[in-house]
Amino acid sequence: MPATLRTAVDTPLPVLGRDVRVPLVTGGEVPYAALDYAASAPALQRVWDDVAAYAPYYGSVHRGAGHLSQLSTDLFENSRATVAEFLGCRPGDDVVFTRSTTDSLNLLAAVLPPGTHAFAFESEHHAALLPWGRRGDTAVTWLDAPRTPGQAVEALERALAAREPYGPALVCVTGASNVTGELWPVRELAAAAHAHGARIVLDAAQLVPHQAVDVAESDVDWVAFSGHKLYAPFGAGVLAGRADWLRRAEPYLAGGGATRSVARGAAGEPVVEWHDTVARHEAGSPNVIGAYAIASACRALTAAGFERLEAREQALLARLREGLAEVPGARVVSLFGDDAPRVGVVSFVVDGWNSSHFAAALSAEYGIGVRDGLFCAHPLVRALLAEGGGSSDTAARSASAWGGGGRRAGECGTPDEV
Ligand code: PLP
Repeated sequence: MPATLRTAVDTPLPVLGRDVRVPLVTGGEVPYAALDYAASAPALQRVWDDVAAYAPYYGSVHRGAGHLSQLSTDLFENSRATVAEFLGCRPGDDVVFTRSTTDSLNLLAAVLPPGTHAFAFESEHHAALLPWGRRGDTAVTWLDAPRTPGQAVEALERALAAREPYGPALVCVTGASNVTGELWPVRELAAAAHAHGARIVLDAAQLVPHQAVDVAESDVDWVAFSGHKLYAPFGAGVLAGRADWLRRAEPYLAGGGATRSVARGAAGEPVVEWHDTVARHEAGSPNVIGAYAIASACRALTAAGFERLEAREQALLARLREGLAEVPGARVVSLFGDDAPRVGVVSFVVDGWNSSHFAAALSAEYGIGVRDGLFCAHPLVRALLAEGGGSSDTAARSASAWGGGGRRAGECGTPDEV
């Protein structure tokens, strides 16, 4: 069924790999139906073309007077400006290029002021759960997974009001769950955080490919995302938002490019003056291809129009769910309820089936690629499986639908973790 999704609906943004054919165990071969873009999306053709057009002109960024070095530096800095515009950043916000969402959130954790108490719902992806509280001078509290968006806001307000002592606080919340695809009440959570003197970072890894994100309008302090989920799979990510905590803290990485001056002191000690610009956290030669690819994807998605992409995606999502409703024993999992608004990410269990076997069969017999496992959200998936009468033998499966804006499944988790 999902294989027909792709051919029946024309695609606004072609991606690489659409013509890949895969062998079936039953003989013959079929066009590959990639429904695991939530884990990693292929490059948009446009992104690939842009990268290929630039490749012959590659040069060192911020490290050369030559023409190609200047060109690459311009390209890198212009990419930063494109991302700021794409995200609706405020004047004065920083856009730091990182390796991924995981890297971005770890960077933020590294620059938190001493004494910061972080809060995250246990339903988050591990990248949004685990970076906090690892430094001895910070703490973290995981909140119960809420069952409605309203409950999320109330629970956050209660937790922030109760915190002791009343020091700096950070809330980390996802925009769209990588497990259920459900949308989170980001504006309301940001308002609650700010009302209690806390800041908020939006894990937009699963949101940016589906919906326009507006940092200023949603009033989040930072946003983090990965290029490889935005059709720019070239090893780069972004942390964008308030410059103050970033520029006050020790550099995330120590090395060339982050420094204004380095000298040897009288006693042989290092005397280092770090940049107090965005360069402070971008030590090492920047990944200009990755940054340029992200900017190219931002431009392509903006030009295609999120309204149009969303409409197409929702139509595909409806078809996927209709199809799943006909599969005996299949059940879509959700936190906020069946009708909750969601992006095109669906996880499901099939009674009596081990998810690894089910996923393997979809691949081997139908050429359909999905993700099975705990999707790097162990607390959430375990809870959802337990309450649905599931077990690690009945399994969460994740599928995603799109025809060129397509979507998402989970990731991580070894096969026997379901
Ligand atoms: N947050 C969410 C919601 C995700 O879905 C993912 C990846 O699947 C991440 C964070 C981590 O992204 P990355 O692996 O690119 O660092």
